[in-house]
Amino acid sequence: MMQSVKKLFSHFLQMIGCSSTKALPRMVTRTGIGYDIHPLVFGRPLVLGGIRITHPQGKGLLGHSDADVLAHAIADALLGAAGKVDIGVYFPNTDASIQNISSLLILEKVSEIIAAEGGVIINIDATLIAEEPKIGPYVDLMRSSIAGALKIPVTAVGLKATTNEGLGAIGRGEGIAALATASVEMQYLCR
Ligand SMILES: [Zn+2]
Repeated sequence: MMQSVKKLFSHFLQMIGCSSTKALPRMVTRTGIGYDIHPLVFGRPLVLGGIRITHPQGKGLLGHSDADVLAHAIADALLGAAGKVDIGVYFPNTDASIQNISSLLILEKVSEIIAAEGGVIINIDATLIAEEPKIGPYVDLMRSSIAGALKIPVTAVGLKATTNEGLGAIGRGEGIAALATASVEMQYLCR
């Protein structure tokens, strides 16, 4: 009887990818980091965190999708935490089917990829770096929209905005960048 329980347990460990009975599966929290930047141009909408924002000069971000730099940085942070490749591999800019799509769909897909691995998103923290427009009035809207796409509580999404103090390309208003970190609890991870 004892022997068959041991055999069953060893089979279970094998199934979940553990090589040794000494390396028991457990819950671990992993972190990831993401960065993205897109140029600001005339004739494009400005979408940040899934929210359409009016730029004082009427500019928007240039990119294959809606160029939502914030959503892209968050997607990369999440994929990094799960040990996956970057969003360029999942959503190549040569794929016509994703041209001009809302990047909230990218976040939804990333949350599905993580859930399929048995992962649970703990929290996101992100910083937008832009000279203009002023992001403050939109922060809570963006947090809600990101949380909705990832199916996590809005309190699990931190979002700040800063300028580049007039320095470099971002300081000249030529583009907007975003940084993000993510924590993901991964189940059945063995070492
Ligand atoms: Zn991007």
